[in-house]
Amino acid sequence: MVSTFKLFINGEWVSSESGETYTRGNPADPDEILGKFQKGNVKDAQRAIEAAQNALESWSDTPAPTRAEYLIKAANLLITHKEDLARGLTREMGKTLKDSKAEVQEAIDLAFYIAAEGRRLFGLTVPSEKPDKFAMTVRLPIGVAGLITPWNFPIAIPARKIFYTLVCGNTAVLKPASDTPICASKLVELIEQTGIPKGVLNLVTGPGETVGMTIIKDKRVRVISFTGNKDTGATILREAGLKRINLELGGKNPIIVMDDADLKLAVDGVMWGGFETSGQRCTAASRVIVHEKVKEQFEQMLLEEVRKLRVGNGLDPKTDVGPLINKAAQEKARSYVEIGQSEGAKLLVGDHLPGNLKGWFFEPTILTDCTREMQVSQEEIFGPVVSVLAAKSITEAIDIANSVDYGLSSSIYTKSLRNVFLAINKLQTGLTYVNSSTIGAEVQLPFGGIKQSGNTREDGPEGVREFTELKTVYVDYSGKLQKTFLE
Ligand code: NDP
Repeated sequence: MVSTFKLFINGEWVSSESGETYTRGNPADPDEILGKFQKGNVKDAQRAIEAAQNALESWSDTPAPTRAEYLIKAANLLITHKEDLARGLTREMGKTLKDSKAEVQEAIDLAFYIAAEGRRLFGLTVPSEKPDKFAMTVRLPIGVAGLITPWNFPIAIPARKIFYTLVCGNTAVLKPASDTPICASKLVELIEQTGIPKGVLNLVTGPGETVGMTIIKDKRVRVISFTGNKDTGATILREAGLKRINLELGGKNPIIVMDDADLKLAVDGVMWGGFETSGQRCTAASRVIVHEKVKEQFEQMLLEEVRKLRVGNGLDPKTDVGPLINKAAQEKARSYVEIGQSEGAKLLVGDHLPGNLKGWFFEPTILTDCTREMQVSQEEIFGPVVSVLAAKSITEAIDIANSVDYGLSSSIYTKSLRNVFLAINKLQTGLTYVNSSTIGAEVQLPFGGIKQSGNTREDGPEGVREFTELKTVYVDYSGKLQKTFLE
């Protein structure tokens, strides 16, 4: 018997006004139907926005430390249900169980970190140029937040956005990816169990083009927090009108391997960054730029490791690489490998659809002798496909690294302090790792990209900026008119 999942609007689990549902299979075994989900429509999205709007005043008047207590309760519930959530995540999204547990742990870490903002939400006090006058800034809620999330981190990304929204005193409508509605529903169910007042958090599943677009365009929604594809991000910027728009988009993240690098360490970095989560991470290491002097040796070492990877169902503890999210993703990876070869790249390993497996699997693949102009060096493949490019010097390596539209994460392996600081200063990305892979961000530091990878920073001390208005306050207690800018 397949379970039916509902929308969560104004504190009630309800069916869509459309009366329509859709189903989805396990990416490791598409015949296994995981559930029936509401195909929400424009009216559902509007109902949810109205509920969030009605709940706003009372929630934003609730002291921030009290709001934070709901996050602490949510963190503890996530700890209690970590194992179940992780297994469900693997079944719905495909990543390995170890990877899923790490994702649930990320949501727990986020809940504790963000809850502490309830006792910070710092403003500034600044000296005034006048006597008997006090000047400061305070952080205030923005209003109803529209949270639109992708499928690759179906618990951690919605959790992050919900927790920041709530602690900052906003109310939320969450529209999760249509590929991962169960994770979003389970997360909202746990937050419901904290006793959160009705209407403060609402969930509407359904297509991005209708539910997502309604949220984006509605004037009552004052802030959008979106993570996903850069083209969807561009559509949102065009369609949303005047409201706060926070975008976390894709990446084409390079690892630079210099001739003085610890090659074993660099191989480990490429293996983790390139193939963890089957390459379906915005920060995945999809380009490796290797100094020409060590390229051959590095490729041999990498090849040996790639051949050891086991592709399979993420629930099997022996699996290193799970399936891709759906058939379209599998076809996309396949077509990029073909395009790469037609452009002159050489296939070092991979490009097989494992014949014994039913799901949307794709073998870890390395294309070498790529050049910077090739599509496989420019476009986000979002699968386990890594392009290797050669460079003659640190300057050329950085130049190649910067030759893409994206700017999310980057990494350099070297023992030279000069190379390290050139990379830190010159790589056009929001994150740079030194002697570590392009993935592995920690929640207490800002996360986000530049160029076409986004326009915001989540997490760390910057995280609250996405969800607060900064008000400047002048308090004049002199009892007389004090004009500014007088000679
Ligand atoms: P999409 O942009 O296709 O989808 C993301 C969300 O937007 C989904 O909920 C989707 O709904 C919704 N959506 C799609 N079209 C519209 C629309 N026209 N209006 C409103 N909402 C819409 O991205 P993917 O799901 O393919 O996610 C993968 C992308 O996310 C990659 O590019 C990846 O790099 C990026 N990403 C970025 C991260 C970062 O922090 N920088 C982190 C993780 C991923 P539906 O599912 O119904 O289509």
